[in-house]
Amino acid sequence: MEIRFYNTMSRKTEIFEPIEPMKVKMYACGPTVYNYAHIGNLRTYIFEDLLKRLFLHAGYEVNHVMNITDVGHLTGDNDDGEDKMVKSSRESSRTVREIADFYTNAFFNDTDRLHILRPTTACKATDHIDDMIALIQTLEKKGFTYEAGGNIYFSIDRFPEYGRLARLDSQQLQAGARVAVDGNKRNPHDFVLWFTRSKYENHVLLWDSPWGKGYPGWHIECSAMSMKYLGPHFDIHCGGIDHIPVHHTNEIAQSEAASGEKWVDYWLHGEFLILDKGKMSKSSGSFLTLQSLIDAGYDPLDYRWFCLGAHYRSQLTFSFDGLKAAASARRKLFTRTAALKAECAGAAVETPEGKAHSDRFWRAAADDLNLPKALASVWALLKDETVSPSGKLAALYSMDEILGLGLREAAEAADPPSVSAEEKARIEELLAQRREAKAARDFARADEIRDRLAAEGIRIRDTAETTLWEKIGGGM
Ligand code: AMP
Ligand code: ZN
Repeated sequence: MEIRFYNTMSRKTEIFEPIEPMKVKMYACGPTVYNYAHIGNLRTYIFEDLLKRLFLHAGYEVNHVMNITDVGHLTGDNDDGEDKMVKSSRESSRTVREIADFYTNAFFNDTDRLHILRPTTACKATDHIDDMIALIQTLEKKGFTYEAGGNIYFSIDRFPEYGRLARLDSQQLQAGARVAVDGNKRNPHDFVLWFTRSKYENHVLLWDSPWGKGYPGWHIECSAMSMKYLGPHFDIHCGGIDHIPVHHTNEIAQSEAASGEKWVDYWLHGEFLILDKGKMSKSSGSFLTLQSLIDAGYDPLDYRWFCLGAHYRSQLTFSFDGLKAAASARRKLFTRTAALKAECAGAAVETPEGKAHSDRFWRAAADDLNLPKALASVWALLKDETVSPSGKLAALYSMDEILGLGLREAAEAADPPSVSAEEKARIEELLAQRREAKAARDFARADEIRDRLAAEGIRIRDTAETTLWEKIGGGM
């Protein structure tokens, strides 16, 4: 299967060529665990899950690494503000460790409920301080750093490629001067690799380092951990679009300056989820969590389905009306799947007619994850009368490898529709009449009875001795 992605680095859609055949090494920036993930953050993890599931479907071995930021992420991305973890700890009178553990668990609880596959490796920044120090030492040896006011900075002027991802030109780099807040910086876009001194002297997360007791800058963790687990050159790096101008730009500078080689081949960025009122952000406190959707009566998978309806590179506005529509479509899909399963006694068997739909579906998914286009094939499949129930079921189960709705499990868990004693007697009576009609070679009458039962959702099967029947749904 040919897979194509829009690469933020080239601003073009490119055919995906892995570094090693049939292997994908991907890194996704993970959560800063000082609060719950909001549904905007979760949209980005759903997008990354689609990416990973596409590769798994195509037969790739996927090595997916994600960091857990439990130190160093300041309230401002440009080395300004307070450490988000420390701030949250102070405000809640819990220790930083307690905060980190609590919100890391909450994060995975959310992603599990959204059927987001867990990363191969989820690594905590605080477990990798030595790796970050070693990387900063390499940068220091190669002359990319300077010390000022007790902190170690990365000097972007030593790295001529700086800003390529964000297309920052020299004019924009100069424009940054007006927003610079740290007088130690030689260039306003220089960034901190290691703090020994910040505005917040009473920082509780401190480690020994060659530069004194301190803590790492935010960006260095992603470079250190991705290269530790994936090597100095890997296939894909992804995250939300907000990371393009600062975080990913700085990650590239550090990593390529240290290794002297190209770091990442494909950069994929998910657009934001916004509220009708505007941006959703953790720090402003104006955000919706997955739990708040559940409390409003929705299934987490309604939100997953809601996100699948928009392309990952388009902004998506959240509304409860939109979520309601997604919930009803998803329920319809579940009911139809359960009915199909009952109709063919669960025997999902691929047929050419069904495969034509799933092939179309996968072609759209492989074309820069065009799930909105792929979803059209789901409904087209269900409507197509030339596809047998078992062919439909097989195609749906294939599609679900990326939809991630758990269609097979849901269909298996669905109770067969119940039949009252009265209805049972009526059906048995009709079947008796059908047997009599057949014995009298009145096939028109026999077929009429069969069709009438079928319209009521009752499927019959003749055996040598008798006629078996089952109720498979209410006239779907
Ligand atoms: P954070 O926990 O703030 O580091 O963010 C985790 C991920 O969510 C990052 O990849 C961000 O780019 C992404 N993100 C943040 N806000 C939004 C949003 N409103 N919509 C989509 N993704 C977002
Ligand atoms: Zn990162």
